[in-house]
Amino acid sequence: MQPIFLGSEAADNLAKQATKEGTHLHLQAPKCHLKKILRNLSLNKWQQDWDSGDTGRAIFNILPKVTLTPASWSRESILFDTGHGPFPSYIYRFWLRHSDICTCGEKGDPLHYATSCHMMLSFYKTKCRKYSTLVEKHTFK
Ligand SMILES: [Zn+2]
Repeated sequence: MQPIFLGSEAADNLAKQATKEGTHLHLQAPKCHLKKILRNLSLNKWQQDWDSGDTGRAIFNILPKVTLTPASWSRESILFDTGHGPFPSYIYRFWLRHSDICTCGEKGDPLHYATSCHMMLSFYKTKCRKYSTLVEKHTFK
């Protein structure tokens, strides 16, 4: 038996013993105080990851600060800002479509549908006000 396995077996045995018998911790602070400290540590770590991450940058530009309170966005706002909707650019990412090009010939991302796609003209006329606020929020940050 190799020595490296002895350490992991000992750790496994201690873990099994702890699950059967429990652990005795003598903490010098109330449980609620420790929960608050852990929550703040988690939020700080989350904020660091969010600040230095590679994904979700469009949302980062809108919501740069992490919080446990959900943002009260409408469904349309979420689809538009995340691009996670029935857009060719999103569907193409999962290989469920052969290209990310709209039927009009331009790239089928949310901004295209909201601003320049001539296939959406009738939609612009009926719901123009609702979506114009989305476009303003997205383009004039
Ligand atoms: Zn189009």
